[in-house]
Amino acid sequence: MKIVEMKIPVREVFDGYADTAEMGVRGYGGRLNIRPAFQREFVYNAKQRAAVVNTVRHGFPLNVMYWVRNAEGGFEMLDGQQRTLSICQYVNGDYSIDHRGFGNLTEEERAQILDYPLTVYVCEGTERERLDWFEVVNTAGEQLNAQERRNAQYTGRWLYEAKRYFSRTGCAAAALADKYMTGTPIRQDLLETALEWIADRDGCDLLDYMAAHQHDANADDLRQYFESVIAWVKTTFPVVRSKLMKGLPWGLYFNKHGGRSINPRKLEARIAQLLRDDEDVNDITNQRGIYEYLLDGDERHLSIRAFSPKMAQTAYARQKGICPVCGKHFAIEDMQADHIKPWSKGGRTVAENCQMLCKADNLKKGAMQTQCWSIWT
Ligand SMILES: [Zn+2]
Repeated sequence: MKIVEMKIPVREVFDGYADTAEMGVRGYGGRLNIRPAFQREFVYNAKQRAAVVNTVRHGFPLNVMYWVRNAEGGFEMLDGQQRTLSICQYVNGDYSIDHRGFGNLTEEERAQILDYPLTVYVCEGTERERLDWFEVVNTAGEQLNAQERRNAQYTGRWLYEAKRYFSRTGCAAAALADKYMTGTPIRQDLLETALEWIADRDGCDLLDYMAAHQHDANADDLRQYFESVIAWVKTTFPVVRSKLMKGLPWGLYFNKHGGRSINPRKLEARIAQLLRDDEDVNDITNQRGIYEYLLDGDERHLSIRAFSPKMAQTAYARQKGICPVCGKHFAIEDMQADHIKPWSKGGRTVAENCQMLCKADNLKKGAMQTQCWSIWT
């Protein structure tokens, strides 16, 4: 990991300055990525950018900027994006300050701006090092979120294609998966989620996937996978219940169950039943868990914790009203249903795992479990 301090005149940063939808904003002879394409748009207001330009015109110091040298020998702007944009846009003649644009300045004044040395720390290191560095430096200025920081590390055609699909307002991914996903495309939320899913498919972590595909010619693998996930959700659960479905980890479900033959009509009947059935509904504390429950049969996804009255009566009859702890007989009203194998340890809320304890013993057992929890946590 290497950090070098450089003094770079504005004229060099402005050299090759271009702002295009395709490439984002570039400068420094085309080698500096000032703002990547499709990055969320955060812009200084007129007062803020005038302050930057006036600082330069007076020859006062600007705070240090941070660039990161990428694998191709180019540079990514880590910190200083808005200040750099303010200066470049002014020099480019995009706006004026106090009715004076760059073109209205004297030759001397223009030279003064162009010769102004920006203090830049250029960082070089492995991908992981740079990412760690991003986390540290990115505490002030224009805050990037985790996926934006990752994006700055794995630039190239693959990322460009991926962002075109996942990261624009009204992008194809959002149009396709709007009812099933949460988040904002331009904040990279959809891209991040899709990457988490596909990394799970490949048994690696998200960064490994990005690293492995950075130099791909396109993002077809990711796009096609994502389309398969959403198509699977749509055929498996054809009735849309956005409130329950939005934001579930559909790709993870798909990775586990996508290959199975599932009868959507039966599933839907069961969902409708689970949602309708008063007795169950009262106990399902996590209705959103219905989908995962139906796929793998593990009712813990539903957080069903309470036994139904019928289960309690069955256990009471089986025990003939005897509390198995103290051996005394009780009326059913004086007993409570208890998980034989504790719920917290994976014990299921089914008749076979139900026993009736007298209230005193149930209280003791509960207290003991609480004690164990506090020891372990
Ligand atoms: Zn008892």
